Amino acid sequence: LGTGLKDAMKKLAGKTVIDKAAVDELVKDLQRVLLQSDVNVKLVMGLSKAIKSRALEEEPPKGMSVREHVLRIVYQELVNLMGKDVTVTLGPQTILMAGLQGSGKTTTTGKLARFFQRKGLRVGVICADVFRPGAYDQLKTLCNKINVPCYGEPGETDAVKIVQNGIPELKNSEVLLIDTQGRHALENELIDEIIALNELTKATHRWLVIDAALGQQAREQAARFHEAINIDGVIITKMDGTAKGGGALSAVAETGSGIVFIGSGETIEDLERFDPDSFISRLLGMGDLHSLIERAEEAIGDQEIDVNAMMKGKFTLRDMYKQLESLKKMGPLKQVMSMLPLGGVEIPQDAYDVTGKKMERYKIIMDSMTSEELDNPSMISGSRVQRISLGAGATPEEVRELLKYYKTMQRTLKGFRGMGGKFNMQRMMK
Ligand code: GDP
Ligand code: MG
Repeated sequence: LGTGLKDAMKKLAGKTVIDKAAVDELVKDLQRVLLQSDVNVKLVMGLSKAIKSRALEEEPPKGMSVREHVLRIVYQELVNLMGKDVTVTLGPQTILMAGLQGSGKTTTTGKLARFFQRKGLRVGVICADVFRPGAYDQLKTLCNKINVPCYGEPGETDAVKIVQNGIPELKNSEVLLIDTQGRHALENELIDEIIALNELTKATHRWLVIDAALGQQAREQAARFHEAINIDGVIITKMDGTAKGGGALSAVAETGSGIVFIGSGETIEDLERFDPDSFISRLLGMGDLHSLIERAEEAIGDQEIDVNAMMKGKFTLRDMYKQLESLKKMGPLKQVMSMLPLGGVEIPQDAYDVTGKKMERYKIIMDSMTSEELDNPSMISGSRVQRISLGAGATPEEVRELLKYYKTMQRTLKGFRGMGGKFNMQRMMK
């Protein structure tokens, strides 16, 4: 899993022009990986469309490689999928927990109590779950461990009544957490109750707790809860398991909110603030995409490639002269070559074996050529070689070597162009 995606990304390496086929392939692999991670089909399609159109329409910023440009777009669109950046305020607030039974609400309530307590806030917890037997004991046990007051009325069947009584009991708490019932399925009673609790508590936040393993049902659950109480944050639990949490992204999209926390274990400490980079890495089953992009950025630095000179339709000695000039600024030829679209084209070793010193010699030799010769190198015959070598203070051997080098370059560039519509030269030369 994810290796196809890695390969697809690799295929973009070294390209200086947006290769539609390569982007299509990358997007296809991305789709496969995201769908396997339970991301909703509609979301995946929207993401694919955005990546494709942006990759093809947006020009890579100057000095940025195509690969880096495309990866950046992929990364940005994935971050978009994660929803809004949710800030957690460290002040007085009431948080209403929503979600179906088993999603991890009670456990997460305990974890949140711990989180805010560690931030130096006074926390109080109310158990408003009148559905699950033992709900109060479960929450109370968690709260006792961390010395947080927990209000509940075991046996009482009216959740609103419990919360009504609990609020004055916990009036010293700065952060009030309300754990609710979940039931097994979405039922009107459950929805009516949570609406009433929301109205009563005037909750600052209404966070939806979603099991990472929940697939496509996440969307419907989120839609119902959102319609009822306006969910403003999602918590994904059980991320310590094998599930990638992709299903929860439809809850994020459905509510227009973002991911607040990640539950990463069964203990009260296993709560993490959401980090899009690590979430995306996990979703894709590959290393940190963001740091990959940053590394690429560093590697490329502010080098500018004069693709113009490299890729002119007609490659003359004059072009080679300019090319050698620009190569001087660019660094080792091999490195420059590695940034060109070389897919399928063999670069002869000769092409690399040109040292900076030799380049200087070549330029001196070319300075002894006539304009005609520079524009039409094929006319350089034996006697011309003699004349040029004399003028440049070089040997005829050196001149012939230069001509051989020129032919190698010409063939190589012809090879690029020979790849036909695969690369958009016009775009590249902009
Ligand atoms: P609720 O019905 O929504 O209140 O869910 P609970 O809080 O009772 O959790 C249901 C089960 O999921 C329990 O066995 C919890 O220990 C477990 N659980 C909750 N969050 C996590 C988590 O982040 N990681 C793991 N491994 N288990 C969790
Ligand atoms: Mg519970």
